[in-house]
Amino acid sequence: MKRCLMLSLFFAGLLAVQAAPKDSLAQAGSKKYILVIHGGAGTILKSQMTPEKEAAYRAGLQRALDAGNTVLKNGGKAIDAVQAAIQVMEDDPHFNAGKGSVFTNEGKNEMDAAIMDGKTLKAGSVAGVTVVRNPITAARAVMDKSEHVLLAGRGAEKFAAQNGCTIVDASYFYTEDRWQGLQKARALDSEKSRLDHDSAHAFLKQPGNRDYKYGTVGAVALDMEGNLAAATSTGGMTNKKFGRVGDAPLIGAGTYANNNTCAISCTGWGEFYIRLVMAKSISDRMELAHQTLQQASDEMIMRQLPALGGDGGMIAVDKDGNFVMTFNTAGMYRGFVKSTGETGIEIYQP
Ligand code: ASP
Repeated sequence: MKRCLMLSLFFAGLLAVQAAPKDSLAQAGSKKYILVIHGGAGTILKSQMTPEKEAAYRAGLQRALDAGNTVLKNGGKAIDAVQAAIQVMEDDPHFNAGKGSVFTNEGKNEMDAAIMDGKTLKAGSVAGVTVVRNPITAARAVMDKSEHVLLAGRGAEKFAAQNGCTIVDASYFYTEDRWQGLQKARALDSEKSRLDHDSAHAFLKQPGNRDYKYGTVGAVALDMEGNLAAATSTGGMTNKKFGRVGDAPLIGAGTYANNNTCAISCTGWGEFYIRLVMAKSISDRMELAHQTLQQASDEMIMRQLPALGGDGGMIAVDKDGNFVMTFNTAGMYRGFVKSTGETGIEIYQP
């Protein structure tokens, strides 16, 4: 009887092995993955959007989702999926990253980017780069090919060039829209700075500047192997001065991934995200206080961030595939795609 049972178990096993799909895609298909992206948060109001502009944003987000989804559905890594999605948005002038980055007070484009692997906790980032076509590729090179985490300015550019990143003339990043944004910000800033030294604060509080938004791009993913990754890329904030660096390239502030908890990419008023150590605080709340991703992100974005005077949003996915797209501004460009085929793109408050 016992022998009979063993034999049937043996044949059942054999059948299972034979029935197993041969190609890795079908095999992997039984496992879940998810990609979530953002294209910045801010005062994004339907009343101020033209149908053409909205369609262009939606198309840009869709292209980014498609690029990351292609990686994930073929069994690729979360780290490659987030990079692929970011690169698409860096090439799209609608977003404040790569082509389309905002201008500094001196009329330059200085970009920050970061990427982090939740499995190894390896991370790479660059700050204040001006000639790297896709700053996220430089961040990835720092992670993969250097013993460092964050490289800044000329050194970062030299390293990027030596490691095969595409280098362009700084004029590549010029867009008329962003240039006009700087003129407007300069006008508001110079008026106000006489009264208030906190110029960024003054600029954002100006009623005439209602169309201001944080156009940073970000992506987070969980792949079929259960690994998490996060990436963020930005031109920073319009009219920034003195080599200002935001939260995006600071691991634990604007970008963080840890397989024990979640992967996070933030967008918003960077100074506040840095002071709150935003992304790591959310991860810690999950790991140490056993909060859910939803609870931890609500606490940080909806309570602690505004309590300090900041605003913005974030996207995150946890190790079980739960995700959030949390923001305390009027809107946030955002989208997701899952292995189940569920997908969506949103811009305004629900
Ligand atoms: N967080 C970015 C920064 O402060 C700005 C953004 O999200 O658009 O540099």
